[in-house]
Amino acid sequence: MSIKTDVIIIGGGATGCGIARDLALRGVPHYLVEKGDFASGATGACHGLLHSGGRYVVKDSESARECISENAILRRIARKCVETTGGLFIRLPGDSKRYRDEFLASCDEIGIETEVLSPSKALDLVPGLNPALEEAISVPDCSIDPFRLCMLNAYTSRHRGGGILTHHEVVEIIQEKGQCVGIKARERLTSQIKEIRGRVIINAAGAWGDKIARLGGTSVPMSLSKGSLIVTNHRLTNMVINRLRPPSDGDIIVPNEAVCLAGTTSIPVSDPDMLEIDPAEVDIVATQAEQMVPGFGSTRLIRAYTGVRPLLMAPVQNGDGRSISRGFQIIEHGNGMFSILGGKLTTYRLMAEKTVDVVMTHFGLKAACRTAELPLEGQDELSGYPLSKRLSSMDDIVCECELVTRQSVEHAVNAMATQYVGDIQHRTRLGMGPCQGGFCTYRALGIMQELGRVSPEVSISVLKEFLQRRFKGIRPALWGDQLREEQLIESLYLGILNMGSKP
Ligand SMILES: Cc1cc2nc3c(=O)[nH]c(=O)nc-3n(C[C@H](O)[C@H](O)[C@H](O)COP(=O)(O)OP(=O)(O)OC[C@H]3O[C@@H](n4cnc5c(N)ncnc54)[C@H](O)[C@@H]3O)c2cc1C
Repeated sequence: MSIKTDVIIIGGGATGCGIARDLALRGVPHYLVEKGDFASGATGACHGLLHSGGRYVVKDSESARECISENAILRRIARKCVETTGGLFIRLPGDSKRYRDEFLASCDEIGIETEVLSPSKALDLVPGLNPALEEAISVPDCSIDPFRLCMLNAYTSRHRGGGILTHHEVVEIIQEKGQCVGIKARERLTSQIKEIRGRVIINAAGAWGDKIARLGGTSVPMSLSKGSLIVTNHRLTNMVINRLRPPSDGDIIVPNEAVCLAGTTSIPVSDPDMLEIDPAEVDIVATQAEQMVPGFGSTRLIRAYTGVRPLLMAPVQNGDGRSISRGFQIIEHGNGMFSILGGKLTTYRLMAEKTVDVVMTHFGLKAACRTAELPLEGQDELSGYPLSKRLSSMDDIVCECELVTRQSVEHAVNAMATQYVGDIQHRTRLGMGPCQGGFCTYRALGIMQELGRVSPEVSISVLKEFLQRRFKGIRPALWGDQLREEQLIESLYLGILNMGSKP
């Protein structure tokens, strides 16, 4: 038997979740289908920077305008996802003074608030900065948690009658008389197929957009650009640090909860499912980050990760995708499918608004978008920043690195009825600290078994899958203390828990 709805959204990244929230608030029945957990594509692999627009202001003024306007909206509606860190663009010896002048003039024109700071003022704000800096310019950059953002958008959908299917991969788009009328989705663990019928299909599959469009008998023009980032084991700055020069490799450091994220690279790729982090990318990012914050060089790196930017097709210049606009485009394919392409995490709400406007026109319906005014629902259930807030509930800690309690793991397991450790990780930050889940993953699985969510057999395969993914991120950053700790963890899993054996 098939499920029936009006709109089927494919993709549970920021764009898909934003569309689900917007449809829910306008009273349109919908179903969102995501092959992993929320934010398992570019959204969860991004830098977590709520752009002020400064990065794009010189070359891509339209994107910069969208960024500064959405930055203000998200700070208002998504308080528990955004840390209002502020940001600095720092000019180091040798960086172009002409670029600095263009930067300031363009910020002025677009309305991005700036302040020029002397080196000593900048060092007061961020003592770890390179003391040789020539000046800094402050902008309203912020740090944003993409996982929370997706979940809170999905929360509104779920609580207002929307359907959400995570861990279901769309494997077929059903077509009748040349129209896309539904999808078939395969459940990840059981391979069971579910059929959903809808009047409209929205392709919000990011870098997988062309694959989805082809299932619907059409295609979309995309340029895929891989970016890799590294994670430090503690915070080196409480503000976002950007290098004041044209965008290039490794020029941004973003504080994120207890750690810092440094990146990124930009390398053209053809398949979003075939991604490897080249150790050279880790070297480039670490070297560039060290120029801005010298302590970076002696800091322990806990992992690297990579994601693919779903950019609009344009001829690739200079060997990377940085010259391509970060703007977005909605394509109406004329067969019941709409694709939303390009954009950024920062502009996800605007992208959702414009997409839903098009769908409303298609249905001949009228209901205004309210996503910019209404705060995200469900935020009261989150602890918010800073990490020290979690110290107030120190009982029965399951993950020592991120201070995650047994109570919050049980809450996440029960609320989601999940079988995946990754789902708990995204909701509680379990396993995101220096040991990268080495000591808490098997504890979390034990709790899931106690609560009757997984059988011992399933838990072994879930654990093995998790360890494989974990190692993929850790391997490119293995040296020094991190390597020593990894050897201890490896001996626990392979020696004591015998995880290397075949079932
Ligand atoms: C390295 C990097 C750093 C970035 N940093 C920033 C930043 O700091 N700030 C910023 O604003 N933007 C940043 N971006 C851009 C931003 O992350 C993306 O533009 C945005 O997250 C895209 O969201 P999305 O929902 O459109 O795509 P995605 O997040 O990729 O979501 C698409 C979803 O579709 C799902 N899917 C695919 N195929 C199927 C299928 N067959 N069935 C079901 N589901 C499917 C995927 O699993 C995925 O979850 C960065 C991007 C990268 C790659």
